[in-house]
Amino acid sequence: MEIIRIDSVATAFIRPAEGVNAGLIHTREGMILVDTTSSAEEITSILNAVDAQIEEVRLVINTHSHSDHTWGNQAFTCPILAHRSCLERMQSALSNEWSPEVFRSYLSDLEKTDPQKADEFRRTVKDLHITLPSEVFDERVERELGGLKYEVIHLGGHTPDLSVVWLPQSRVLFASDLIFQGRYPYIFDANIPDWIARLSQLMEFGASAIIPGHGVMCGEAEIVYLREYLQNTWELTTEHIRLGHSPDETAADPAFPRFSEQKYERLHQANIKYMYQKMIS
Ligand SMILES: [Zn+2]
Repeated sequence: MEIIRIDSVATAFIRPAEGVNAGLIHTREGMILVDTTSSAEEITSILNAVDAQIEEVRLVINTHSHSDHTWGNQAFTCPILAHRSCLERMQSALSNEWSPEVFRSYLSDLEKTDPQKADEFRRTVKDLHITLPSEVFDERVERELGGLKYEVIHLGGHTPDLSVVWLPQSRVLFASDLIFQGRYPYIFDANIPDWIARLSQLMEFGASAIIPGHGVMCGEAEIVYLREYLQNTWELTTEHIRLGHSPDETAADPAFPRFSEQKYERLHQANIKYMYQKMIS
């Protein structure tokens, strides 16, 4: 993990090796945490690394419902703010993909393919009490804490419930999973045309610092690359469907854009096939 103190009010926890990033906003009256990572243990150790106490966090913001942004919520007793559909998606997941039955069958499959990962998941789930946002908003929130203005703005794209956090005084943008820097994005809950439009919108903020949801701190070039990746993958997939090619034939085309980072290489073909299914359904 790399801890980057962006300015007097913002800290970024940059964790390309571990997975997801998080952010901390410092005010005279306590701190605001942007996302809680995958477990209470994980977010507690992140806060410990900057000598921040759980009790100093006055507000948690969940940028969207994915487990790697929300499963650490249980560590906090302060209000947890999220877009209304983030709460709804988490409520729905509790009786679907986050239900004990689904965890059990996921674990028994994982034990056969990756026993080490299965062990890790078992430990995470054992102590997990999924904690829902306590406060919701619809379009945007503009508030102040300890003299610091902050905004939470619903944009969607990567997921329907995604919000970004904007500090207008220092022009710092926590972009959440609208930006995967340097690697294939996770797109399986996404609206791709929306996401492409939102990336253009991010550039209009005129941010002095951008913290992505995954990967290292980035600028306009990385946003443009991701937008072109999504745009070109979407258009080339459309073309293959028009020509009557199968999902496998489509995904085998070497003309699709690539990322050099190998860790998420499996997403190269998986993303193409997901877009293919989206278009024909
Ligand atoms: Zn996500």
